[in-house]
Amino acid sequence: MICQRPLFPISPLFDEPRRGALPRTLRWTLLGLVSLGQLATLAWYLYTLPLLGKPFPSPLSALAESGIYLMGMMLLKAVQQLNFLPYTYSLLMVGLGFSLEASLIDVLDEVLAMPFWLSTAGASWLRMLGLFLLALGLLRLARQLRGQMNRLHELATLDELTGLSNRRHLQTLAQRWLQPGGRGLTLVMFDIDYFKQVNDRFGHSVGDRTLQDVARLVGAGLPPGAVLGRLGGEEFAILLPGRDADWGRQVAEARRLALAAGTTAAGSVTASFGVASQGPGETAFDALLHRADEALYDAKSAGRNCVCVVEPLSLRSC
Ligand code: GH3
Ligand code: MG
Ligand code: MG
Repeated sequence: MICQRPLFPISPLFDEPRRGALPRTLRWTLLGLVSLGQLATLAWYLYTLPLLGKPFPSPLSALAESGIYLMGMMLLKAVQQLNFLPYTYSLLMVGLGFSLEASLIDVLDEVLAMPFWLSTAGASWLRMLGLFLLALGLLRLARQLRGQMNRLHELATLDELTGLSNRRHLQTLAQRWLQPGGRGLTLVMFDIDYFKQVNDRFGHSVGDRTLQDVARLVGAGLPPGAVLGRLGGEEFAILLPGRDADWGRQVAEARRLALAAGTTAAGSVTASFGVASQGPGETAFDALLHRADEALYDAKSAGRNCVCVVEPLSLRSC
């Protein structure tokens, strides 16, 4: 199955400048503003202190409000790790700045009452604004993380040149199918004939485009459930569900003819195919790969551009 999406689109994470791209001045400005806000509140509070009520009216409340303030500080520390995402970082920092301001007013209000307008509506509005910006920042961060996860998944499972499954992904799928109770596996391996000559004659970039064309031509008519991948170099594999080597031969033959009839960046290109199906009790992918490789070797020896099959009991036929 060929991946139809464009190969490795730029994920949202990488739309933002990368790690270290946050200007140092912006970072220190934001940190400075948050600290300044806290200091200003504290200074103003100390200035007005003699005017206001009795200390620690509710010690338990004061303890809880202090805890909330400390959590805010911990969040501030955590956000410093995101300084490679400038916009998200700025949103979170400004949001945290307002939230910490509201939190500090709550703490001070518990130590000794703050002016009524500030400890009620003032703190609530600051907190609301802070949480709003924090929520925006977190939404943005969640979207960026999802983009990064997708990107990592692509890097781990897809071949960059052709967009097909890479060897590791093929192996993971195959191993799952081979397990008792799994779908069963017939493996078709193929290797482009005389590919070195393509590179030598037309150059490496035409060679690369030829590999992409081969992937497209072979992948275009695969049966449902089949997975086409690139093992490496000019070697590919098709995973077919089930243990029917004869069906594997038919699929391989059809794809061989389609490839030979098609046109690539280097003109007409052929490939040799080897087929092996899972034997009774066989659960190791490497053993199956080895047998398919033997069949492929037979196909090369038999003159190339043909299909050879190795049966579970190592009976071979081309
Ligand atoms: P055979 O019919 O026996 O398979 O002959 P061959 O020339 O295809 O095989 P050989 O192993 O001699 O050469 C394979 C060539 O594939 C050599 C290498 O330069 C080329 N190749 C491997 N990976 C890539 C790639 O990613 N891009 C390009 N352009 N060439 C590649
Ligand atoms: Mg090869
Ligand atoms: Mg080859």
